[in-house]
Amino acid sequence: DQFADNHFIRTIIEDDLQSGKHTAIQTRFPPEPNGYLHIGHAKSICLNFGLAYVFDGKCNLRFDDTNPEKENQEYVDSIKEDVQWLGFQWQGEPRYASDYFDQLFDYAVGLIKEGKAYVCDLTPEEMREYRGTLTEAGKNSPYRDRTAEENLDLFMKMRDGAFPDGSKTLRLKIDMASGNINMRDPVIYRIRRAHHHNTGDKWCIYPMYDYTHAISDAIENITHSLCTLEFEAHRPLYDWVLDNIPSPSQPRQYEFSRLELLYSITSKRKLNQLVSENHVSGWDDPRMPTISGMRRRGYTPEGLRLFAKRVGISKSENIVDMDVLEGAIREDLEHAAPRLMVVLNPLKITLTNFEQGKTQSRTAAFHPNNDSFGEREVPISSTIYIEQDDFAEEPPKGWKRLTLGGEVRLRHGYVIKCDEVVKDENGQIIELKCSIDHDTLGKNPEGRKVKGVIHWVSAEHAAPIKVRLYDRLFTVERPDAVRGDDGEYLPFTDFINPQSKQEITAFAESVVNDLPPESRWQFERVGYFVTDRHDHKQGQMPVFNRTVTLKDGFQK
Ligand code: ATP
Ligand code: MG
Ligand code: MG
Repeated sequence: DQFADNHFIRTIIEDDLQSGKHTAIQTRFPPEPNGYLHIGHAKSICLNFGLAYVFDGKCNLRFDDTNPEKENQEYVDSIKEDVQWLGFQWQGEPRYASDYFDQLFDYAVGLIKEGKAYVCDLTPEEMREYRGTLTEAGKNSPYRDRTAEENLDLFMKMRDGAFPDGSKTLRLKIDMASGNINMRDPVIYRIRRAHHHNTGDKWCIYPMYDYTHAISDAIENITHSLCTLEFEAHRPLYDWVLDNIPSPSQPRQYEFSRLELLYSITSKRKLNQLVSENHVSGWDDPRMPTISGMRRRGYTPEGLRLFAKRVGISKSENIVDMDVLEGAIREDLEHAAPRLMVVLNPLKITLTNFEQGKTQSRTAAFHPNNDSFGEREVPISSTIYIEQDDFAEEPPKGWKRLTLGGEVRLRHGYVIKCDEVVKDENGQIIELKCSIDHDTLGKNPEGRKVKGVIHWVSAEHAAPIKVRLYDRLFTVERPDAVRGDDGEYLPFTDFINPQSKQEITAFAESVVNDLPPESRWQFERVGYFVTDRHDHKQGQMPVFNRTVTLKDGFQK
């Protein structure tokens, strides 16, 4: 199937269905709306929605919105859009952890009444000190033995705004000597007067992630709660919370490794920094590894899903080269994108034996093996453009393109021969004079083989277009893991590729004038391109983004 390859989580689910532990599965994708989704999230989306699809289950979209200062509606909207664009639909309405704030509060009250949670007055510094270290047990908070009545009273006052921000917390009473630091009386509520995108100013206390996540999963009857490996050590806490409340269901957490992409960044916080410091034009800059950036770059949902399938799901390191991503995108576009001819760096050719002012044209298919893309007329006139790279005055060995005295075939057209090179006063080649072999349309010339085929456009019929040539955003494999001489990490922004964006004017077949935004094409022999989602407007000069080059660049 197209979404989920065989992997250990799939096996667990198969077993759970077979044994009757579950009759149906329910997963969820739980982003925090504190930024736009990136390629790592695409992996998680394909996993959660993919499994629901494969096993005929359901997948919820849940906003894990417990940090009001960092979250907003723009992020919520972009996340919904990105999930749908990737080809998935959540069950029912999107959920918000903040929709459960009342229930979370009630469960906390229950825990207090049972003596399992207490209000603590330690400052953050003191709390750190009391927490202990990996090798050293923590110490009990002096507030740990408050009575249930006192805790209840204080917790109500916390909610009612009686105390300043950060002055008190509600903590679970678990075990300050636990080998797992997450179990050393974790904080489950803090005081923070912050406007929340969903609940407004209703609350001045907010629940913490672990507590919220476990209970939200239970409320939604999640069967398999899939998260990345850094939450492995949080699993005992997840289970503790559900074991100590009257939990509506018993979800299980399973962990898989995070995707990391070389020459890229997969952290919302760092991506946010790229945006806020104007290193890129926005979250959806085509160089960004965000889903919306990759969309604008011309990546396809199918290509991204293929990529997710290829990187797989496991517990081992998942550091992936950009080639894997680009390979998946190319593989999809190869059959999904129609083709046309565009010359990026024009070299003028005068066809000396083609009548001036005359136009001839030839019908050509938009795709060599998919008729459904249709066909168009390719006009030729006495002046054409080819790529500067496709001519060499002194060609290297094995050269199949054009050279002085040599022949080449114009794609969908004639064989031409270069008779003369015209240079300017600096010795720069500015024009070629070529002759056409009129008897070579769709057939080889008499008695000789012409191997090279190059793309071209008719100068008078070509449409000028804006083309943005994008390259990797970073110059090093792991921009956020480079250390300076002093052993400290260097800012990842030091490694932004200054050549990651270049804008040129190119010359295209005139069909480009009638395209909507987000129209994906192969420019023959050059690469895959897409009309920009925002800047391409009908009636104006077309604007294309380079999605990815063809595998081997120019074919020799
Ligand atoms: P970030 O550090 O970029 O903010 P996050 O894990 O905090 O990432 P969330 O919004 O909490 O981001 O993530 C939603 C879901 O996506 C989580 O289940 C998380 O495990 C998963 N996810 C996030 N990043 C990756 C990644 N790089 N690879 C795989 N899954 C990821
Ligand atoms: Mg998170
Ligand atoms: Mg995060």
